[in-house]
Amino acid sequence: MKALVKAQPETGLWMEHVPVPEPGPNDVLIKVKKSAICGTDVHIWNWDEWAQKTVPVPLVTGHEFCGEIVEIGSAVAGFEVGQRVSGEGHVICGHCRNCRAGKGHLCRNTEGVGVTRAGSFAEYLCLPQTNVVPIPDDISDEIAAIFDPLGNAVHTALSFDLVGEDVAVTGAGPIGIMGAMIAKQVGARKVVITDINPGRLELAREMGVEHTIRADQESLRDIMPRIGMTEGFDVGLEMSGAAPAFRDMISAMNNGGRVALLGIPPASFEIDWNKVIFKMLHIKGIYGREIFETWYKMIALVQGGLDVSGLITHRIGIDEFASGFEAMHDGSACKVVMDWDA
Ligand code: NAD
Ligand code: ZN
Repeated sequence: MKALVKAQPETGLWMEHVPVPEPGPNDVLIKVKKSAICGTDVHIWNWDEWAQKTVPVPLVTGHEFCGEIVEIGSAVAGFEVGQRVSGEGHVICGHCRNCRAGKGHLCRNTEGVGVTRAGSFAEYLCLPQTNVVPIPDDISDEIAAIFDPLGNAVHTALSFDLVGEDVAVTGAGPIGIMGAMIAKQVGARKVVITDINPGRLELAREMGVEHTIRADQESLRDIMPRIGMTEGFDVGLEMSGAAPAFRDMISAMNNGGRVALLGIPPASFEIDWNKVIFKMLHIKGIYGREIFETWYKMIALVQGGLDVSGLITHRIGIDEFASGFEAMHDGSACKVVMDWDA
């Protein structure tokens, strides 16, 4: 089969022919129809420090996908050939304390599809049945292909009660914009999003997030009087990984504010801990999606009208993958979806 492989420990990905994976008794073999490019894939392409530490070479990459089941293992129940599916990209161990307590997202031994085990930039992907998620007929292939990042946004945004709350989102990448849209849909009062890239803020406004801030020109506090806020934000969703963004958020939180951190900082940095302490902030780290509460909530939100299709800026055939990565590199793309049949 064709697959995008990290074949060499250097910059790039290569389209190669590799064997079709063989499903074990508990596995499902999926024919991939659409693949989306994640920021993580760009790190793997760039072969940065994190990728060098994390990714075994050679490896089939990719983890955002939608496809169709073509084969099921002998012990698989509840799935059938022909079913449309996506899947959870974190494969959990099932035997650590958290897994046994039913909190799979807190597994200590998580493997990452396309990061530490064979991924979905391939004609066929083999996944344990426990990771496979059926996709309802009224959800399109391309939306199902971006359920992984949408799940990150749902997990982060729904970490706290948002109804009637004022919410600050730092970073208007795909996940930040999704987070802001979810906050609005579930009933937040004011939703403000920040970025240093005006194109990203423009896209956020097109997606219905009316309050946007150029973080290189103004702070979150600056916008408060203009939009009728006096005290501070109740909820903060950090979606940039940028130190100045997090510092700005901490400064603009109200006492007792709740902050969820999804953005991954490239290096450690300082913050003013006195603000955290004297404002009595709650800070929560987020990794991946809750398995599978996030998936149920995400499917319900999409079926209830959450439309993130406008975040897909590039739709290309898989053989044009290099142009997709180029658009991710130069910041012109939000989500790139690649079609395996095109
Ligand atoms: P992205 O890189 O497309 O978006 C980040 C945005 O932050 C960009 O638009 C960038 O311009 C903006 N930004 C940079 N500096 C800023 C500043 N000072 N103030 C405000 N915005 C600023 O990434 P994404 O795909 O949307 O993902 C968001 C973040 O979440 C990334 O850091 C990513 O690595 C991380 N992530 C974490 C998990 C997890 O499980 N924790 C999963 C996926 C992604
Ligand atoms: Zn575990």
